[in-house]
Amino acid sequence: MTAHPATHPALHAADPELAALVDAEEQLQADTLRLIPSENYVSAAVLEATGTVLQNKYSEGYPGRRYYEGQQNIDLVETLAVERAKALFGVEHANVQPYSGSPANLAVYLAFASPGDTVLGMSLPMGGHLTHGWGVSATGTWFNGVQYGVRADTGRIDFDQVRDLALKERPKIIFCGGTAVPRTIDFAAFGAIAREVDAVLVADIAHIAGLVAGGAHPSPVPHADVVATTTHKTLRGPRGAMLMSRATHAKAIDKAVFPGLQGGPHNHTTAAIAVALREASAPSFREYAHAVVANAKALAEALLARGFDLVSGGTDNHLVLIDLTSKEVPGKVAAKALDRAGIVVNYNTVPFDPRKPFDPSGIRIGTPSLTSRGLGTADMPKVAEWIDRGVRAAGSADEEALATIRKEVADLMAAHPAPGLPLGA
Ligand SMILES: *Cc1c(COP(=O)(O)O)cnc(C)c1O
Repeated sequence: MTAHPATHPALHAADPELAALVDAEEQLQADTLRLIPSENYVSAAVLEATGTVLQNKYSEGYPGRRYYEGQQNIDLVETLAVERAKALFGVEHANVQPYSGSPANLAVYLAFASPGDTVLGMSLPMGGHLTHGWGVSATGTWFNGVQYGVRADTGRIDFDQVRDLALKERPKIIFCGGTAVPRTIDFAAFGAIAREVDAVLVADIAHIAGLVAGGAHPSPVPHADVVATTTHKTLRGPRGAMLMSRATHAKAIDKAVFPGLQGGPHNHTTAAIAVALREASAPSFREYAHAVVANAKALAEALLARGFDLVSGGTDNHLVLIDLTSKEVPGKVAAKALDRAGIVVNYNTVPFDPRKPFDPSGIRIGTPSLTSRGLGTADMPKVAEWIDRGVRAAGSADEEALATIRKEVADLMAAHPAPGLPLGA
């Protein structure tokens, strides 16, 4: 492993042990084909913003209403992020302070429900998120989480079930959106159901925020009371989150985030969010968002041609969920073998999975990262071929085949430098 002291000179001088780990991670992110759909490569500008002295400042409160002095610059930074979020997503209110997606969602509960109240969300093994009321999450123990899923025949959200559950359980909050949903989310259908039962509709667009911003997925804004999102997935910003809403809910959301749940905002993250939102407003980001979807569709086609079973039969967005049951290789075995081949995925449950969550039947892949490196639809048959060979090698424990793939992957990656990586720059 080469050391790159020029990149982090102070870190190398002060803590060589830690610096070496950062270097190793840079090398890993440069050399591997990263297919985890919730990950990406941020730009050098976003990275720089996260490493600024803004992180030295405490600023509990909101611009113009702080509990600490010395906010001359911080107020402007946060206002910039808020205004850019409002313009990009077309919302009346944006709170950019949530530390990450999970606390953002917890703030929504705090704003609109009380412990013990019923909330309706997509179940985790069907593609939902832990924070949508799943049992092991605080949201499922402090609240009464009722869960919908997908239809067995189509792999798509079962709206009859959503409506039946909503009418029967009368939830305070309905969550839509998820972590393993390969199809367009029908926000209008959720909106109609939420209005019928007088529930607050929360569209959690953590995975697809970049696609929404870039016009490659319909926007939830006309239909949802609250739009929650992380900033670090397809939106290609720092690890953080935002809560957006109509003006009528602004007060409840702001109060819930601070002082309800959090203390001082992470100002360096707020700055990096502002930078990412500016980048996401550029025409090139629209192209990026559409390329992410085109790549995912091309990858899905190529996988289908190789006999892979895909949940819902394909994809409309950035994500493909592969059911490996017919390949007779468990998801975890495949994921670990692909990792050794330089292809980074995660094992994942598939709807109605007969196997256990820690040893499920599927793998989840996506195209945000490879698209950030400039790979296009013409490269997707190659990616599908590597996955096919990798899964076969996993089944036959063929380490040599995995090592061969790893070399081929590294060669292609070397030709496509990743944004933000000193090694690739
Ligand atoms: C990633 C994700 C979250 C949680 O975000 P963290 O930053 O990991 O806490 C919440 N909801 C959805 C739908 C997600 O995909």
